[in-house]
Amino acid sequence: MPTLHPVHLVGAGPGDPELLTLKAVRVIREATVILVDDLVGEQVLASVLDGVATPPRLVQVGKRGGCASTPQAFIERLLVREALAGEKVVRLKGGDPLVFGRAGEEIAALRDAGIEVRVVNGITAGLAAVNALGTGWTDRRCAQGVLLVTGHAQPGHPGPDWDAIGAAAASGITLVVYMGVVQAPRIVDGLLRRLPADWPAAVVQGASGASERCGWSTLGELPAMLQREGFGSPAVLVIGRVLEASALAQARALVTPPAARTAG
Ligand code: SAH
Repeated sequence: MPTLHPVHLVGAGPGDPELLTLKAVRVIREATVILVDDLVGEQVLASVLDGVATPPRLVQVGKRGGCASTPQAFIERLLVREALAGEKVVRLKGGDPLVFGRAGEEIAALRDAGIEVRVVNGITAGLAAVNALGTGWTDRRCAQGVLLVTGHAQPGHPGPDWDAIGAAAASGITLVVYMGVVQAPRIVDGLLRRLPADWPAAVVQGASGASERCGWSTLGELPAMLQREGFGSPAVLVIGRVLEASALAQARALVTPPAARTAG
């Protein structure tokens, strides 16, 4: 029986290799097998593995919404098999493993097999997105909290209640919508039941990476803007008055600064 090592679920961050934690870099460099998500940029792995004497075996296990992807059950079996064979296994995921990363399912499968799991946090895409927009998740003038939500409903599940989420946003919660571009018309329809059409909205594609792109809009105009400007995956939608505090948006005169808005 080989010596077993813990499996590390590691966050690769949103794209910029310099955004990995020191712990992520160490664990990746010590790995013998890495199961890689397709949201992890090649540049990230190449730069982290630069100079490693015995490079790990890389297994691509992409799961991009709408495209052919590796079944989740297969990934879990592979994680267990490699760990039981005595490999130092890293499961490398974009952003943070605990944000829309199916980490819960993988942790359960590994623990059921008696394998220890450790999670190394990464910077989630929604944080890199607000950074790109020149703002934050919160702002004490107008945004008291943040809600990370997926725009992608599982087949057979109703998905998020956009009416209720709109009510939260109206009360001063910033919305950060992952996987929301394709479903934007439906999402916006729901939110408009609780929010005015001129509510600030933006999109960031490829946050922190070399091809990062931002688009500013209003909630009402958002779906048309996404389509007109050709925004696609991976992208995050940011919806909320926190965008009014964005120096970048103000420079483009796309949103009204908080002080200039009438109350309400
Ligand atoms: N665990 C990841 C999220 C995985 S879900 C994280 O913490 O970031 C996949 C979704 O994340 C994509 O559909 C997109 O909405 C978002 N995403 C991932 N990387 C991104 C990036 N660099 N820029 C913008 N959105 C990104």
